[in-house]
Amino acid sequence: MHRILISDSLDPSGLEILRASGAEVHELTSEERPRLHQIVADYDALVVRSMTKVDAALLKAGKRLKVVGRAGIGVDNVDVPAATELGILVVNAPTANLLSATEHTFALLFALARKIPAADNSMKAGVWDRKTFLGTELQGKTCGVIGFGRIGQRVALRAKAFEMTVVAYDPFLDPEVARRLEVEPVDLDALLARSDVVTLHTPMTAETRGLLSRERLTKMKRGALLVNCARGGLVDEVALLELLDSGHLGGAALDVYGEEPPQDFTLARHPKVVATPHIGAQTHEAQERISTETAQMLLGALEGSMAVTAVNLPFTPAGKRGEPYLRLGEQLGRLASALAGGSFRRLQVELWGIDEGLRRPLSVAVLKGALVPFLGEGVNYVNAERIAESRGLEVVRATHTEPAEYAQLVGVTLYGEGGSVSLAGTLFGERDARVVRLESFRLEFRPSGRLLVLRNLDVPGVVGKLGTLLGGAGINIADIHLARHDGGEALAVLRLDSEPSAEALAALRALPEVVSARLVDLGRG
Ligand code: NAD
Repeated sequence: MHRILISDSLDPSGLEILRASGAEVHELTSEERPRLHQIVADYDALVVRSMTKVDAALLKAGKRLKVVGRAGIGVDNVDVPAATELGILVVNAPTANLLSATEHTFALLFALARKIPAADNSMKAGVWDRKTFLGTELQGKTCGVIGFGRIGQRVALRAKAFEMTVVAYDPFLDPEVARRLEVEPVDLDALLARSDVVTLHTPMTAETRGLLSRERLTKMKRGALLVNCARGGLVDEVALLELLDSGHLGGAALDVYGEEPPQDFTLARHPKVVATPHIGAQTHEAQERISTETAQMLLGALEGSMAVTAVNLPFTPAGKRGEPYLRLGEQLGRLASALAGGSFRRLQVELWGIDEGLRRPLSVAVLKGALVPFLGEGVNYVNAERIAESRGLEVVRATHTEPAEYAQLVGVTLYGEGGSVSLAGTLFGERDARVVRLESFRLEFRPSGRLLVLRNLDVPGVVGKLGTLLGGAGINIADIHLARHDGGEALAVLRLDSEPSAEALAALRALPEVVSARLVDLGRG
């Protein structure tokens, strides 16, 4: 009999499924919470929402733990790498709240366009004022959807029902879906310039953080409305406030914030803002679906079936020995994708000396890593290939039999509109991931952390200038790796302890010896 510990409250529908399976289910009481680390030791599965912090210490304390179920999408409160390391599967319920978030986007948009909250407040104050609340119709207006994924597409469909013209921007936009939904694919600048309503539906990743920067917000049409029901960090909130004050933007409807709850409610209080406290998924239906989906996934995982929504894959087909290779593959994919700086159409994975059983999982790992910058938590080992196929991405795997310079070598090439990126990596001592080639440069560095990748002229003094500039900006260089071609260009990869400011990066790029500079955050690896 499986023993399941519920440490954050779960909708009764999921509890019922768990109990009906014959499992022993215990809901943690508030008195027991301080002893959670002790209690968890007796359970096979732990179910959390966002309150319980599932860190490495808690996972280690769960000596019997096989599965952690996150009832919701985001797994920010779960240390997934630690779970993977300990062989604990993490499952979530990524699709349960799509409709609720979609509908909330329209609830916000109508509230904003017709000034509903203010009109309602006035009525509640006993004031019959019809003049102040002059609104805007949606019919005939252009709706710009940024991020044309599961929610973005559903929003587009509903916007069409209100007879809006819909334009969409997504580096992985599927032209077939766009055609079917009668949506015009455009680039981001065109979307901002043309849309009366801009609505955000991208995940929050290192690449999308600050996507609507001051510069981009300024490119929006005068009087346009902004809706953000995705993630707060996508928008520069300071710039948004200024552009609302200056009258450049007509209004904003926000469900999400850079900091939640916000320390400063200035934006939420602004008369041109309609604000809700991240309630996009707060519907009876979504809560029920989250609960039942999580329960089903959890039971499936406990029975040993491949969980459809597994966030990690701790049990590799090649056993423990395969894990470091999968991690290497993921990091190589992430690095290639970040260096490409945009979407790609084709991914080529080349393998030397890799055991047969590991070849496919390894190429899936590379693909997952390459998709993470675009899909965040939405992509996992189970769905990566399906996502690639549905988006028309070509994935090619080649196995070489002739020996390479390393006994095991993984080569990754991404082909995108702006050209290709190619690199290769291996494991040192069977665990330690290293990039050993970047384009045609041979060098050696760990694919993790905050990396500054520079192409520079091979002239004396460059390293000194970089050190001075970064040091002046208060940035410590953890390590530095150099490579060069005879008499031509050189490559430098610097691992930084903290993120340089936009000004420091601009100053670096302005150095006459620097050909290009790209900052890549690969996380812990
Ligand atoms: P999804 O993964 O299905 O779609 C996201 C899309 O964004 C993908 O098609 C991806 O290619 C695209 N994208 C990635 N980088 C981009 C970029 N730089 N520019 C434009 N597009 C880019 O995700 P989803 O399930 O549709 O969720 C969308 C967002 O909604 C997520 O941020 C999610 O966290 C959020 N969400 C919020 C709530 C809420 O309570 N407010 C509820 C559910 C989901």
